[in-house]
Amino acid sequence: MSFNSTAPVHQTAAFLYANTNFSKLNWLEQQWVAWYLWIGNPAIATGLMSFLMHEIVYFGRCVPWMIIDAIPYFRQWKLQPGKVPTKQEQWECTKLVLFTHFTVELPQIWFFHPLAEYMGLSTWQVPFPPLKTMLGQIALFFVFEDAFHYFAHQALHYGPLYRNIHKMHHKYSAPFGLAAEYAHPLEVLILGTGTIGGPLLYCYFTRDLHILTVYIWVTLRLFQAVDAHSGYDFPWSLRNILPFWSGAEHHDFHHMAFTNNFSTSFRWLDYLFGTDDKYREYRAKLAKAKAALKNPSKEETKRLEADLLKQTEIEGERAEAAAEGRSLKA
Ligand SMILES: [Zn+2]
Ligand SMILES: [Zn+2]
Repeated sequence: MSFNSTAPVHQTAAFLYANTNFSKLNWLEQQWVAWYLWIGNPAIATGLMSFLMHEIVYFGRCVPWMIIDAIPYFRQWKLQPGKVPTKQEQWECTKLVLFTHFTVELPQIWFFHPLAEYMGLSTWQVPFPPLKTMLGQIALFFVFEDAFHYFAHQALHYGPLYRNIHKMHHKYSAPFGLAAEYAHPLEVLILGTGTIGGPLLYCYFTRDLHILTVYIWVTLRLFQAVDAHSGYDFPWSLRNILPFWSGAEHHDFHHMAFTNNFSTSFRWLDYLFGTDDKYREYRAKLAKAKAALKNPSKEETKRLEADLLKQTEIEGERAEAAAEGRSLKA
């Protein structure tokens, strides 16, 4: 696509839709056109929409978790019950995440537009692709991102990379929603490649991808990341419906034990490569201990769980120290 950058902006955008039959567009497509016409410059319209979408979805998804953290009733489903984030911790985390969004992510999002157009991504175009096409593409992006993240995340646990980059994300051994993007700028860049790289590669080879599909994908990926850090495992959590879905129950262990469970959305790669052995051992121990106690009282079960948690956490601290090449006094 090319447009004359010296033309008045309103003319530029209007020119894009010169041959569009507006009566055939659905409501959302009409709003889409209205946005591009209103902003006038397609590059700015896309950049602004992408950034706003990311902020609204990320913080919007964190709000329910902040409310849940404030209500003691929900503690019964907290994976590490003794560790509820304080207001102070949440605020410190928010400040850093916002800082990273404006200094690291905003420029990336801005540069994304020309790169994406070069790769053949549709942005201002209407009508949108059929839902079936979008869902198929999103499924592919999920699988690609999960695999990319699995290997890149393991690399980030290698000594020098851990010390200089990934350690920051491991600040919280009991994570909470807002901590999903609490990470070093380089980590945001490296792991973000898994999220954006899939769509870019896909449209480079097929020339058939709309940015709306990318928005839906990024929204679902953000939901996944925030939820995986929430620290809660409910009976109605997705992993109880889809057994291969990771969810908080899987990723929370990674933060607590500092080992195992390197993937994001799915359990299969950790299972296939055996990087979930400690996690499964821990779950089995917990289940066995609970079964061994005849009619365990709530108090007994809680104490048992707390002991196992403590033990795993201590092992996790040792594993982290080993990765950093420092010794921990026993
Ligand atoms: Zn990690
Ligand atoms: Zn994490």
